Amino acid sequence: THVLNIIGGGMAGSEAAWQAAKMGVRVVIHEMRPNTGTFAHRTGNLAEMVCSNSFRSDDDEQNAVGLLHWEMRQAGGLIMQTADQHRLPAGGALAVDRDTFSEAVTATLKSHGNITVQPSEITEIPSEGSWIVATGPLTSGALAEAIRTETGADQLAFFDAIAPIVHADSIDMDLAWRQSRYDKGETEEERTAYINCPMTRDQYEAFIDALLEAEKTEFKQGETAGYFDGCLPIEVMAERGRETLRHGPMKPVGLTNPHDPETKAHAVVQLRRDNQLGTLYNIVGFQTKMKYGAQTSVFRMIPGLTEARFARLGGIHRNTFINSPTLLDERLRLRSKPNVRFAGQITGVEGYVESAAMGLLAGRLAASELLGLDVPSVPSTTATGALVTHITGGADAKTFQPMNVNFGLFPPVDLKGGRRNRPARYKAYTDRAKADWTAWLDAAGCRDAA
Ligand code: FAD
Repeated sequence: THVLNIIGGGMAGSEAAWQAAKMGVRVVIHEMRPNTGTFAHRTGNLAEMVCSNSFRSDDDEQNAVGLLHWEMRQAGGLIMQTADQHRLPAGGALAVDRDTFSEAVTATLKSHGNITVQPSEITEIPSEGSWIVATGPLTSGALAEAIRTETGADQLAFFDAIAPIVHADSIDMDLAWRQSRYDKGETEEERTAYINCPMTRDQYEAFIDALLEAEKTEFKQGETAGYFDGCLPIEVMAERGRETLRHGPMKPVGLTNPHDPETKAHAVVQLRRDNQLGTLYNIVGFQTKMKYGAQTSVFRMIPGLTEARFARLGGIHRNTFINSPTLLDERLRLRSKPNVRFAGQITGVEGYVESAAMGLLAGRLAASELLGLDVPSVPSTTATGALVTHITGGADAKTFQPMNVNFGLFPPVDLKGGRRNRPARYKAYTDRAKADWTAWLDAAGCRDAA
């Protein structure tokens, strides 16, 4: 008989187990809690929410995470179904009672005839059988070591250092311009790979003041290790001296502003293309521990970014994740050991919902493979497909950092004359995604029945 082994019964592992069990596959969940804990989990329950009790926006017409909710509900997802049953009033957000939520997920999985829960820590990557690694941002040390041995030490990170990511179409190109420093690059595309935002002396001084005054998140113990990897938060650089940034990520050399070629900029903020589609740009070297509200107001002081919309804000966290663009194929299989899939936050997605969605996909794909079913690839026009396409290929492997779902990951929609009408554009994204997700589920389902 077919058995799927899942390491980790968090958001991703729970959803993967449910999907595979529903398809008729026997599942063993190997979960180390409560015998071995993490610094954030408090219980032995499956799908424990470690921090916030919110699955974020439930708006499936104007919000990419709400769309992901919709897609998971259509696929009979356990995390969404249970969240709906334990919902608390929270405006447009889907918030839940965290205790009854995870107790219910645990009870549902344990009472399913196809599912067994093994309370044990796995410390090796198995060579035989079908496996999903869904051990999350706090993967145990022994397993992390085994992953490093399998993939190469530089392919597994223990911290994220996220610079804010901006939607390209919200950058004011009347002020900013495209140019790589010293026009470096073989092709025109490479010579124009960066977007530059110039600052005068006064603008720079005001920006440094704002950085120094901004509200920051305190570091937890053990969180500063990332510092030594050359990724100091910008506010820490600013604390070291007012000129530090101007000699670091904001140095103005090798760049000429075509809007004003005579004036030498005092400092330049550079943004680098963040995805293959060219819809997202990250602010180079701007990893930060500033609080979210402070980030938005400080970064909008940058000329060219006054109207910026952020696909995600910056942060630095304890986070175990692999370099999925190099290590995984588009079906979430480890290229070097295709019997092993990865799912959840360890693949470089970020958040409860995104992690559960990657679990849903991995569970279905693994079960289909065991049952000999032929399932088409998930269209990249869906929220689930956009995410998996990003982490397994769309993102730049060299600078890979965890990603939330957002419309910048979707192939652009063609709206005649309507690009400036954001609600219409988002509605077009979600309409297209719903049609394509329904068709994908049908295609997967038809072959299911055959
Ligand atoms: P998890 O839900 O963490 O599940 C992984 C499971 O694997 C755990 O149960 C763990 O015990 C188990 N495990 C680990 N190693 C082994 C092993 N070797 N053998 C067996 N079992 C193992 N996301 C949000 O959306 N909102 C938030 O507010 C939020 N706050 C966070 C705060 C902190 C401190 C951290 C670390 C993360 C936070 N996240 C938040 C991210 C959140 O953890 C993930 O989004 C989500 O829980 C990840 O799902 P997952 O299934 O990948 O991992």
